[in-house]
Amino acid sequence: MSGKFFITPKTDLKKDLILDDVAVKGGTHQIVRINAGKLPSDNRINVLAHVYNSGIPGPVLLILAGVHGDEINGIEIVRRAIENKYFENLKKGAVIAIPLLNVYGFINFSRDMADGKDVNRSFPGHLNGSLASRIARIVTLKLLKITDLAIDFHTGGSERYNFPQVRYNHADTKSEKIAEVFGAPILLENSLIPNSFRKAAFDQKVPAVVFEGGESVRLDSFSIETGLKGIHNVMEFLELKDEEISSKAQSRYLVQKSTWLRSNMAGMFLWLKSSGQVVKKNEIIGVINDPYGTKSVDVVSKTEGIIIGHNNASVVNLGDPLFHIGSQYKVINTGTIEKI
Ligand SMILES: [Zn+2]
Repeated sequence: MSGKFFITPKTDLKKDLILDDVAVKGGTHQIVRINAGKLPSDNRINVLAHVYNSGIPGPVLLILAGVHGDEINGIEIVRRAIENKYFENLKKGAVIAIPLLNVYGFINFSRDMADGKDVNRSFPGHLNGSLASRIARIVTLKLLKITDLAIDFHTGGSERYNFPQVRYNHADTKSEKIAEVFGAPILLENSLIPNSFRKAAFDQKVPAVVFEGGESVRLDSFSIETGLKGIHNVMEFLELKDEEISSKAQSRYLVQKSTWLRSNMAGMFLWLKSSGQVVKKNEIIGVINDPYGTKSVDVVSKTEGIIIGHNNASVVNLGDPLFHIGSQYKVINTGTIEKI
C-alpha cells in the first residue's frame, strides 16, 4: 500500500489551514497559541501548536506529546523533530506538531492536570467540564477535526520503563499499517481505552497510534531516537518528505497479548533481565531480598515471552508489577509477519 492511496485528505490545503481561527497560509510555518485557561495566579496557559502548511493537497498529520505532563521522552522527541526541521519543506500536506499538551502537569512534574484528572481519560471532553476535560475538548474540536492521521507520544510511568513500542488498534487497518511503518522494536495490539485520545480519534475516523518509550521524568536516548526515526518513517510513507526510510529495529516483535509479572514478596528488587530481552518459561529473571540478609526469593517468569517493560524501583511491595511480558508474539521480518 502506498502512502499516496492511504489517506483521503479531509482538509483542502489549497485554502489556508485554519486552527483556532488562525489562518496558516500555504508554504508557511506558524506557531498558533491555543488558550487553555489560566493558573490561579492569573497567568494565561497556552498550548503551542507548530503548524506547517505546504499548501499542496495532502494529508494533515498531527504529532502530539505531553498529554501526560511528566512523560518527557515524548515531549523531547517532538521538540527535537521541530529543532531539526523535520516538518519544514514538506512535499505536500501539513503537519501540526504539539510538543506539550498538558502544560499544568509539566510544571507540576505530574501525569495529570492540576485537578488530579487524567487528560487521556477525559476525551472527547466538554468545554464546560474539568480542566482535563476542557483540554481534551480542544483536541477533539480544534485538532482532530482537521487531522487525517495522528501519532501520540508517551513515556512509561514513574519508575516503569517501556521498551520503545507503538500501540495500535487491530480493528483499524490504517493504524496497524502506521505502527508497522514506524519501525519501533515492539508493536503492541492494544484495544481502545474508553475516553482516551486514541478512542476519540477512532470515533472521528482518524487513524492514530500511540508511542511509548522509557520512563517518566527521565530522558532515554534510545526511546528518543526510536521516536524520531518513527516520525521520519511515517512522513516518508505518507510522501510528505522525499527522504529514505531509516533503518528499522533489527529484531521487531508484534505482541498480541501481554501480562504483568507481579512481586510475590515485599523487599529490595534486582532485575536480572530487562526490557527487550526474550525470556523462557520458568526462567529466573529477577530476585527480591529482605533488607536483613535472611530472606530471598527468585522472580520466575510464568511464560515464555519478550519483556516489553520493567520496573526500575529498587524497593517493591507485594503485588507490585515487575515485568511486562509479551506472552503471545510474532517476529516481524522485512515487512512480513512470521510466526515463530
Ligand atoms: Zn502517557
